[in-house]
Parts: sequence; structure tokens; C-alpha cells
Amino acid sequence: MQTITQALEKLRQSKFRSRFVLHSADLEYIQRVGMDTIQIHAVRFVKERLAPANPKNDGKQTPMKGHPVFIAQHATACCCRGCLHRWYGVAEGKELSDKQQQKIVNLIMSWIAEQICIQEKETRTKERTSDRSSTDTF
Ligand SMILES: [Zn+2]
Repeated sequence: MQTITQALEKLRQSKFRSRFVLHSADLEYIQRVGMDTIQIHAVRFVKERLAPANPKNDGKQTPMKGHPVFIAQHATACCCRGCLHRWYGVAEGKELSDKQQQKIVNLIMSWIAEQICIQEKETRTKERTSDRSSTDTF
């Protein structure tokens, strides 16, 4: 069983998965409602849309946008049972255990936390650059 760090590293190497990023609207939403609420949503989405033995519309149940957790699900290959099987060897046609659901939620939340970290760093770099250019003027 791989760790979250290993899983995130592997996902970063996938051209398709690494294309998914959180945009400013997603980050603002997270800031507004807080990470605890995001986690509650993640738990619910996983339970309702992924955990059943045969989820409704499997393969198409996760929208490409509209909620940061949806984006995180695509980025972490936790979007449908087919992807869970291909990436993590999770058996299809069988209900996910509580432990499996919890691991999926942990991975989704770690990815979101990592995205926030990356975006904050980028914002700081941008601020520093603009600081420097204003000093250069004088
Ligand atoms: Zn999928």
C-alpha cells in the first residue's frame, strides 16, 4: 500500500491528472467555507457517488468543475470506480469499506492542501516581484 505522498508523486507524473488545478474561485470558496466543511463535502461525495457497489452513472458521476472536491477527485484519480481500479487496484462491483472511503477522503484533502500551498507560494513570489519593480523605479 502506497502512502499519500507516494500517491501524490505518482499523480504529478501523469500529464492528464496534473492538468487539474484549483482556480481562484475554488480557493475563494475554500477560504469562505473552511477546510472542515470541504472535508464534510468530500466525505459525502465519496459515500454517495463512489462507495456503492455500482454507483449511478459510474465514469461520469464526477463533474469537471463546480466544487473543489470534484476537481481534486479527477486530479487524484478518485473520480470513478474505473479510475480507482486502474490507479489503486480497488475492486469494482463491491461497496467501498469505511476505511477505503476514509483513505480516499484523506488523499483528496491532501491534494487540496497541497494546491493551496502552491498557490500561496505563487502569490508571494508575484508580490515580491512587484515590490522589486517598484523600488527599481527610484
Ligand atoms: Zn474516473
